[in-house]
Amino acid sequence: MTTIFHKIIRREIPADIVYEDDDIIAFRDIAPQAPVHVLFVPKTDVATLNDLREEQAAVVGRLAFAAARYAKEQGFAEDGYRIVMNCNEHGGQTVFQIHLHLLAGAQLGRFGTPG
Ligand code: 5GP
Repeated sequence: MTTIFHKIIRREIPADIVYEDDDIIAFRDIAPQAPVHVLFVPKTDVATLNDLREEQAAVVGRLAFAAARYAKEQGFAEDGYRIVMNCNEHGGQTVFQIHLHLLAGAQLGRFGTPG
């Protein structure tokens, strides 16, 4: 699979990378929706949450754990934050490699359908 996130993993395009290990990369969203907006992306290829197999469930757990650890390291864990995974059209997914959004740094609005 090749998405923009695979190109970031392969260093073919630049990104502001804040964390990386053997399984995960995390970098700042190019169009931030909050003062802190970091994307946590697994290096395992999974296009959407619908494609995640049961034996791959730990992939998502690692993303959530890494996001919480980052929040603690950066000092906003107690204030709070939001993690989001969008799936397909109605979820607003635009990049088809699963990823977890970490949003923080201000009081966040509610979410769901507009209005
Ligand atoms: P989705 O809409 O699929 O849940 O989230 C994709 C996210 O990737 C969007 O928030 C979008 O701003 C971000 N994004 C798209 N292209 C790039 C890029 O080239 N670099 C970075 N850092 N983020 C990107």
